[in-house]
Amino acid sequence: MPLAALALLLALPATPGESVRIAVGRFPDVVEVKAQGLVVIADGTSAPADKGYVRITAGKGGPRVAGRELKADVVRLEAPGTLALRGHTYHQRLEVQWRRYDGKPELLVVHPLDLETYVAGIVSSELPGGWPLEAYKAQAVAARTFALWQKYRRLDLPYHLEASVLDQVYQGVEREHALAQQAARETMGEVLTWRHLVAQAYFHASCGDRTESAREGWGTELPYLPGSTCGTCKLATRYGWNARIARADVDRALAPLLGEPLVAVSVKGRTASGRAKGVLLAGKTKQRTITAADLRRLLGYSTVWSTFIDKLAFEGGALVVHGKGSGHGVGLCQWGARGLADDGVGYREILARYYPGATLRRAY
Ligand SMILES: [Zn+2]
Repeated sequence: MPLAALALLLALPATPGESVRIAVGRFPDVVEVKAQGLVVIADGTSAPADKGYVRITAGKGGPRVAGRELKADVVRLEAPGTLALRGHTYHQRLEVQWRRYDGKPELLVVHPLDLETYVAGIVSSELPGGWPLEAYKAQAVAARTFALWQKYRRLDLPYHLEASVLDQVYQGVEREHALAQQAARETMGEVLTWRHLVAQAYFHASCGDRTESAREGWGTELPYLPGSTCGTCKLATRYGWNARIARADVDRALAPLLGEPLVAVSVKGRTASGRAKGVLLAGKTKQRTITAADLRRLLGYSTVWSTFIDKLAFEGGALVVHGKGSGHGVGLCQWGARGLADDGVGYREILARYYPGATLRRAY
């Protein structure tokens, strides 16, 4: 190897080249970004933004900057530090992509960043501060694995991951904390695999003692997600929860499915972990069964926290739901990982508990 090339290699940053593209926002008409030393790159030119601020609007045929419609669909924004967009801050780069969505122009903002920085951000956004390091490390491996799996199934899309609970919650720089960064660093490049492929490392807030199998949760048979005994998430905020939903709200959400007022609601069938499979909606003359997952969607994910429903019945003027755990219940239980880490269990063992049979490997 020529000496110059070797010198160049040695000069490369220690962080490996794996990167991800996160969709951080979609705007129907205007995007405003602020940053110190902000540079706007589009149509083959690069110019410093006036006062470190740029306003991009969705023109009919492309993005508009300073009243001028650009030829290119993408405007790149770069800064030496962080860029501020709608209450969040992001590292160094954003891309504003003009596109048509449902026939209307919109601006999609994508944040390209290296995977390790992203993992630290996810750990910070998904888990509160003050937890033991091994829990953060288990979450770091799960988040990295999930991100890589999503990336390679969305390579031809403008972005790989949503910044919301649809994928993994990413809230930008301001949420990053030191232990999350340490967890990413100490597990750098480590991913869970199954038969040499990147695993689908789902995770959720708390399971309520038993995680759900991928087969019953998603309808997909994944041998490393058979449903596990957890038992260490009793400290979870929503280990046990109650919801009281006003009759009028229940009718608005569910009666149209039945075509008549609801008289009774009950759990119909349970999965091996004990979660509700279906929910029977009964009227005076008709009955209909919906999935418990649909019940959550229709009544609100932050009202019915899981499908681990112990009790479901009309009481007085409301539907009363008693349940356990929070989230879909598949894969790593975050509060359970914390409980294990509190007991001195290391991240490899924590991962083996929730993804039994999956192999931990260094991808880079
Ligand atoms: Zn659990």
